[in-house]
Amino acid sequence: MPIQSFIPPQRTLMGPGPSDVSPRVLSALARPTVGHLDPTFIGMMDEIKSLLQYAFQTQNTYTLAISAPGSAGMEACFVNLLTPEDTVVVCRNGVFGARMIENVQRIGAKVVVIEGEWGRAVDPQALEDTLKQTPQAKFVAFVHAETSTGALSDAKTLCEIARNHQCLTIVDAVTSLAGVELKVDDWGIDAIYSGSQKCLSCVPGMSPVSFSDQAAALIKNRKSTVQSWFLDQSLVMDYWSGQGKRSYHHTAPVNSLYALHESLVMLQNEGLENSWARHRAQHNKLASGFADLGLEFIVPAQERLPQLNAVHIPQGIDDAKVRQYLLNEYNLEIGAGLGGFSGTAWRIGLMGYAARSENVALCLAALKDALNQ
Ligand SMILES: *Cc1c(COP(=O)(O)O)cnc(C)c1O
Repeated sequence: MPIQSFIPPQRTLMGPGPSDVSPRVLSALARPTVGHLDPTFIGMMDEIKSLLQYAFQTQNTYTLAISAPGSAGMEACFVNLLTPEDTVVVCRNGVFGARMIENVQRIGAKVVVIEGEWGRAVDPQALEDTLKQTPQAKFVAFVHAETSTGALSDAKTLCEIARNHQCLTIVDAVTSLAGVELKVDDWGIDAIYSGSQKCLSCVPGMSPVSFSDQAAALIKNRKSTVQSWFLDQSLVMDYWSGQGKRSYHHTAPVNSLYALHESLVMLQNEGLENSWARHRAQHNKLASGFADLGLEFIVPAQERLPQLNAVHIPQGIDDAKVRQYLLNEYNLEIGAGLGGFSGTAWRIGLMGYAARSENVALCLAALKDALNQ
């Protein structure tokens, strides 16, 4: 028998990402492919840049989408900005902060780690204390929305502290972009990266990034070449900008960028503040349903991410069995615990298109049924 076409099941995605993709975005994906240097395509790339400036709330000219997932956006920020001589303070309160540390170590730069409790926001006082003792620090890096635990950190305050100590900031906004308040220019963020498949509800595989003028100048003036050819932003920029003439760097994921464009148009139509408010409202509904089911949140209320709800698995309940039941009976995917929470937590995502009343109702009914079984 020859291998047949792959027809995926129709799932409802309420895990840590990818999130449910809107039918509008899926149909944009199926539009005819054009050349990656076609003038109409270049025009669309310029629109993506300005739509991303809106989503990030920034005027940064250096705002674009890297042709690879969020992890590549993370790596792009680190390899372009850091040199082995630099000292970087990294706040770790979950899995993704740990990956930042690995990036710094692979570059050969010096890392000073602030250990935070899993399931809590990064402690601004700990950052202040560490920076006082680390005058040589040049960068501060932290995760705005820790998807591994569901904790939201106060990015505005952390950036202010970093700036007071003459440090540039590198911020992971993979899960926060479009889901919670995020203001790159007001908060003075220097390098930020996100992902297409979380609260933008686009297909996976692209990473929006933005660099402040100061960060962009640092990249432009660096003496040593960036260790990664593909992620070297001084090369990528020639493809994403320039009046009229663009030079080939790599073949952009043409159709995926149609999808990203569509998801950003949807965000613009809804309005950024409305998107934040919708995530919050659906989270409140889900939280009151969890209380009825006796499910307890890991993160204290004021540090909770609306778009990623981490709860303790009740005593005597089999983690894998419940998730399998939800998948088999309801076509519903929720997330397992990650790292230190493996086997003891569920992570329920309300990201982008999934942050809707019908998803909340389905999730609560399905969980109630699964727990009764
Ligand atoms: C998902 C995620 C990433 C990694 O993104 P990929 O697209 O999976 O590479 C990084 N940081 C955070 C906070 C995330 O949630």
